[in-house]
Amino acid sequence: MIRVFKMPLEVAAFADSVRRQGKRLALVPTMGFLHDGHVSLMREGASRADMVAASIFVNPTQFGPNEDLSRYPRDMAGDLAKCERAGVSVVYAPEPAAVYPPGYQTYVDVTNASQGLCGAKRPGHFRGVATVVTKLLALFRPHVALFGEKDFQQLKVIEALNRDLDLGCDIVGMPIVREADGLAMSSRNAYLSADERKRALALSRGLLAAQALVRGGESEVEPLLAVIRRELQASDVREDYVEIVDAHTLRPISRIEPGVPSRALVAGFVGTTRLVDNMSV
Ligand code: AMP
Repeated sequence: MIRVFKMPLEVAAFADSVRRQGKRLALVPTMGFLHDGHVSLMREGASRADMVAASIFVNPTQFGPNEDLSRYPRDMAGDLAKCERAGVSVVYAPEPAAVYPPGYQTYVDVTNASQGLCGAKRPGHFRGVATVVTKLLALFRPHVALFGEKDFQQLKVIEALNRDLDLGCDIVGMPIVREADGLAMSSRNAYLSADERKRALALSRGLLAAQALVRGGESEVEPLLAVIRRELQASDVREDYVEIVDAHTLRPISRIEPGVPSRALVAGFVGTTRLVDNMSV
């Protein structure tokens, strides 16, 4: 049977006992409403550790005042069943007051990696992400923690805080899991109407078109941005940003250089739903 903890003290006792037994612990932090992308992280965790823990917590500090915190989709019973099937033995599902009790005043600010892209469009978002992930890593002290490349900038933020705060965790980034037609899996896809679901394909289609141009020899960034924007416009997806960056520094580039990994990232609104996607180019 899967165990569910609601309080940090329970997690601390569990993590202590795992370490005392000399076992390796993997952690998969999530906001729930789990899909196969989350499951891929859990299964990878199971292959890299003796025990997998997951957290299910819709973290209020990473939502802006006009974002979807109150209507973020939830399904605890379904999530626990998926966790169990994926080899998770412990789920930490705290109430917000257990994570941020009265008097809470400590935040983690990852300066460089949080700039630009989603950091520029969602002020305070990565401060909330970095704070909750730091708390989870400090609480569980896992040997390995797994995150999706779906949230590419988030992965960079987490790598930085793990390094800078000497948390000593092995941070593993995992490939994006997609629906059969190419749409990146996301809990927020549940917001899409049938028509929006079709239009949402513009993000992955645009990224694939950019990738194809690069394979065909294009090295200037401008035509790549243009082809992505064309796809968004054709499907009436409102651009939040489209950028091609150095995959290590996340700084915008103007040319693809051989041997330097680069990444195309896109965020757009399909109706009122904000979706993100990215691919190496
Ligand atoms: P979330 O519940 O959206 O906060 O995501 C929890 C973790 O799952 C994060 O590390 C995400 O990057 C990862 N994730 C979300 N969607 C996908 C996906 N389609 N493929 C792989 N990982 C994902």
